[in-house]
Amino acid sequence: MEKHIFPPLTIKKAEVFVFRAPIETPVRTSFGIMYDRPAVLVRLEDSDGTYGWGEVWCNFPACGAEHRGRLLETVLLSLILGKTFESPEDAIHLLTTKSHVLRLQTDEPGPIAQSIAGLDIALWDMFARRAGKPLYSVLGGEEKAFVPAYASGINPVDTLKIVERCRDEGFTAFKFKIGFDAARDMRNIEDVSANLQKGEGFAIDVNQAWDLPFALEFTSRLRDYSILWLEEPLPCDTHCSQWKILAAHCQVPLAAGENFRSEETYREAFADPWLGVIQPDICKWGGLSRTLPIAKAILKAGIRYCPHYLGGGIGLLASAHLLAAVGGDGTLEVDINPNPLRPLLADPYPQVKAGNFSLPSAPGLGVIPQLGEITSLRTFYKELST
Ligand SMILES: [Mg+2]
Repeated sequence: MEKHIFPPLTIKKAEVFVFRAPIETPVRTSFGIMYDRPAVLVRLEDSDGTYGWGEVWCNFPACGAEHRGRLLETVLLSLILGKTFESPEDAIHLLTTKSHVLRLQTDEPGPIAQSIAGLDIALWDMFARRAGKPLYSVLGGEEKAFVPAYASGINPVDTLKIVERCRDEGFTAFKFKIGFDAARDMRNIEDVSANLQKGEGFAIDVNQAWDLPFALEFTSRLRDYSILWLEEPLPCDTHCSQWKILAAHCQVPLAAGENFRSEETYREAFADPWLGVIQPDICKWGGLSRTLPIAKAILKAGIRYCPHYLGGGIGLLASAHLLAAVGGDGTLEVDINPNPLRPLLADPYPQVKAGNFSLPSAPGLGVIPQLGEITSLRTFYKELST
């Protein structure tokens, strides 16, 4: 892991928050439905009051957010409370090493990695705030006012209507869910394609619903369409020989990465690459510390790096800063399903204009949660200090 050294800070206090926001329209993917919008946040504070915010991926299973909150409270925070670090990578190394046997015993590598990823983001936010610089800058990026963004998470029902709403909100690229009924999927592809305006594009996301024979058959029907990428057509653990057969057959670039959970998996994807787009999720595995070198390696391999993200505002802003720091021709995933936790957790919430997401220039993430406004949505809270 690449190491960034800063003046040391000592973790004196930690707070864990779990929120659940009710929504009217469920968010549908081919593997499950979200009936509310959860978020797990962690806030760390140094002895001089410097603080940092992180977010943990927790969309599934439906009961998973509180579990991750409790994992932070009962297992992970005690490993760093009272300790002094001069590098976020040192803290992540310690957390990963010390939780190794527990990961094996519990067979819960996912929730543990997601919780560590949230802590990693909080540590980077802290170090950047202490340095008085925006997060993208301490990650090694040049000054930037915005990153390209696309509207994501578009449901298979009323797809075209939602695309039109997103256009009105400032987006020029869209990604909608397929992997349901094939006839409806094709209808949505035809409708959106026929209604695109000049300079616009769209991608489609199968969420791992197909097998190779079906994927070969369905993608034969995509030859007349211009599609930015086809996301997770196969389960992420499908052998690379099958991915390569599909990549050779399909003219649309294949995308995956949100469910990769080790450096080895990424390394495999770079060698003799079959993916045109790789999409690490910093709240799901690796945080910023382990994803920064991976994102740079993705670009070096000539592949497009597009951060994956679907959650509250803190993780979104951290993803935007990483994309700004790494560069390339990637685009930020911005979930467009109603979720009050997106703007309320990231205040002031950046604007989207002409397909670009504005990047805060204030220190760290450049945003903070408006806790007063969302206390009623809190399902779990714990404060720990030394
Ligand atoms: Mg996806």
